[in-house]
Amino acid sequence: MPTSPSRLLLLLPTTTYRTEAFVDAASKLGVDLVCASERPSSLQALVPESLVTLDFKDPGASAETIARFARRRPIDAVVAVDDLTTVVAAAISERLGLKANSLPAAAAARDKLTMRRSLASAGVPVPRFRLVELADDPAEHAEAVEYPCVLKPLTLSASRGVIRANDAREFVAAFRRISAILEQGDAAPVGEARRALLVEEFVPGREVALEGLLVGGTLHVLALFDKPDPLDGPFFEETIYVTPSRLPGPLQDRIAAVARDACSALGLTEGPIHAELRINDRGPFVLEVAARSIGGLCARTLRFGTGLSLEELILCHALGRPLESLERERRAAGVMMIPIPRGGRLVGVRGAEEAAAVDAIEEVAITMHPGQEVVPLPEGWQYLGFIFARAETSAAVEGALREAHARLHFEIE
Ligand code: ADP
Repeated sequence: MPTSPSRLLLLLPTTTYRTEAFVDAASKLGVDLVCASERPSSLQALVPESLVTLDFKDPGASAETIARFARRRPIDAVVAVDDLTTVVAAAISERLGLKANSLPAAAAARDKLTMRRSLASAGVPVPRFRLVELADDPAEHAEAVEYPCVLKPLTLSASRGVIRANDAREFVAAFRRISAILEQGDAAPVGEARRALLVEEFVPGREVALEGLLVGGTLHVLALFDKPDPLDGPFFEETIYVTPSRLPGPLQDRIAAVARDACSALGLTEGPIHAELRINDRGPFVLEVAARSIGGLCARTLRFGTGLSLEELILCHALGRPLESLERERRAAGVMMIPIPRGGRLVGVRGAEEAAAVDAIEEVAITMHPGQEVVPLPEGWQYLGFIFARAETSAAVEGALREAHARLHFEIE
């Protein structure tokens, strides 16, 4: 008897860059997709069996809606795309009895304070931290903290609202700026995250990002990315990611071991993780472990086995299908998240063809469109676009990304 195709629920925030990549992966794998988003799509009435609206801020209600849906159309797996949906994914999986991260684990990874507490109590190296209430007088805290420090909201992502302060005056300014960001409609968090922020010791050193897949509690490292541009603040705009890492092998092993400890401290057991760590002469420090894969369009840098995309791997794993290979291709690869030089209205972009013509450059994807408001950090969260490169060595990839970027000109009014 022929078996029916597996059905997978994809949780896609409207702000995601990754719809196309996941939809492509599902169609390659012959998976029947149900897509859920937080805003109703105009197509929903036409295909009610494939599109669902959920309130991602209410995991309980979302789980209930999907449980009702699944009575008619059973769901075999749930995949969270981006930070906004990891907790909902865990709640739905729990309700449907699917193998996935537990709800407390997903919630711990989503909240910077809970994450710090869980990691610190398990002995995983993290920056010293303290919680500061937004209702407090910042000037009092400014006298009590050590400098330099980093102030950050509890639940935002993409470095939004993350600010370094070198002295009391900068502390007070950063505190006020983050308070204002948390008042913005799209950034307004719920619960404690609305009332407080985190203040951490600034950890100097170089930064790496580790992309991994947890299978039955075992962390498989899919790629370790170096971030060759210094991230010293006051804001922390991501730019270049290059893999394989050029760090010495034993240090890479140490980074993987610390990331493993962090996942077990948080209780994460299944699916993709994206971890950010800083390394200095005291060893690796965990800045963050998110229960999702790499953001933006950056996953385009990764190919596995015979050419599988990261999204295909994630869907296969979620459906319990055999994983052909977790081995990344041999060549070096990298991406530049194109930094925003200043705020304003994007008028136009010149030089994209010239940038794409640089040796080793595979693609220049400008994701903002003319007329769009461009907002730099710490208030913004989008990128102007992405540049992708592949070459024999990581150094060649980095060089190509820098050269391509130098050929791009953004006219911002
Ligand atoms: P988000 O989840 O918004 O990306 P993170 O807490 O990961 O927020 O911080 C974003 C970036 O800010 C990090 O990748 C790092 O470059 C910098 N950063 C955050 N906290 C610290 C810290 N304690 N010391 C040094 N740099 C930090």
